[in-house]
Amino acid sequence: MKKIPVCILGATGMVGQKFVELLLDHPWFEIAALAASDRSAGKPYKEAIKGAMQLPDPIAEMKVVPCVPNIPCKLVFSGLDSSVAGEIEEQFAKAGYFVISNASNHRMDQSVPLLIPEVNSSHLKLLKPNSGAIITNPNCSVVGICMALKPILDRWGIEAVQAVTLQALSGAGYPGVAALDILDNVIPYIANEESKVESEPLKILGSFEDGKIVPYPMRLSAQCNRVAVADGHMACVSIKLKQKASQSEILAAWRDFSSVAQNLDLPSAPKRPVVYLDDERHPQPKLHRNLEGGMSVSAGRLRECPLFDWKFVVLSHNTIRGAAGCAILNAELMVKMGYI
Ligand code: NAP
Repeated sequence: MKKIPVCILGATGMVGQKFVELLLDHPWFEIAALAASDRSAGKPYKEAIKGAMQLPDPIAEMKVVPCVPNIPCKLVFSGLDSSVAGEIEEQFAKAGYFVISNASNHRMDQSVPLLIPEVNSSHLKLLKPNSGAIITNPNCSVVGICMALKPILDRWGIEAVQAVTLQALSGAGYPGVAALDILDNVIPYIANEESKVESEPLKILGSFEDGKIVPYPMRLSAQCNRVAVADGHMACVSIKLKQKASQSEILAAWRDFSSVAQNLDLPSAPKRPVVYLDDERHPQPKLHRNLEGGMSVSAGRLRECPLFDWKFVVLSHNTIRGAAGCAILNAELMVKMGYI
């Protein structure tokens, strides 16, 4: 198969660099262009990136270009800052590009799929044939939470969810939170995060009916905290089910969870989307964020909840499963299903 040329918008940021790392040896895609702001345009990539990254020669020397829709490819990954992503991504989509975005700007638009291949591939039906489009991935904490909820919701239904997140520093972009603010500390506030964690799952877990997404009817409350971890977002989740389920039944639902992404053997699809860890001290960001290349979500500590029915902990790599890796898996699904 001839590789499909792709461009990365916002290539110099935290998510952009993760795209580069994951696409360097990708079997289907090859990097044709790296785009960022006017501050970076014209510079070799190695001089424009934020922070430090080991790069092979051809990519290190590739000149960064501005984010203008004149790039010779059809498929564009976006790691753009949300202050500019909305307008730039629209320009690319109008010019006929498929924009697979990490930014929050268009996630809740009625015509835009908010996609996790293992959870809601049917939402791709929102796309119109033969035209450019924006396809988004969820907020970086929402991916792990939705992947853990999906097999439970399919079997027993969910009435209510309470989630407390412990989110890594790389989730704040570069340079992120000042060292003196976060060392020896936890910050119980992340701007605009709780509303995303409370709204996005309802769309993702919703159903495609009569040409639109009908949100899943459940109540959700979130509290989001920034913690001194480099990568890996954790969430402590309590759930109230519509029908009773036992602990062993929920564990079996996670163990047996599979989807079109696994059936199609997509290159970035983890063999086990949700991995349950028996040790009661697990999961931990340092130990488990890179399971199956960072694409598996790890869960642990499933136990009865005195307020709801069950509670557990879920962990996912925020810049891989929660951002660049999920976007690449979205693109792989679209290629295999004939959208691209
Ligand atoms: P970041 O490190 O701050 O990178 C932002 C990128 O946007 C840089 O490449 C920057 O280019 C580019 N940019 C800024 N202003 C621009 C402009 N006027 N025109 C063109 N490009 C411009 O942020 P990040 O953490 O990678 O996040 C990127 C996006 O993904 C955000 O929307 C974020 O909310 C979302 N997201 C992040 C994570 C995560 O874990 N970090 C997870 C999921 C989603 P220059 O270097 O040239 O300024």
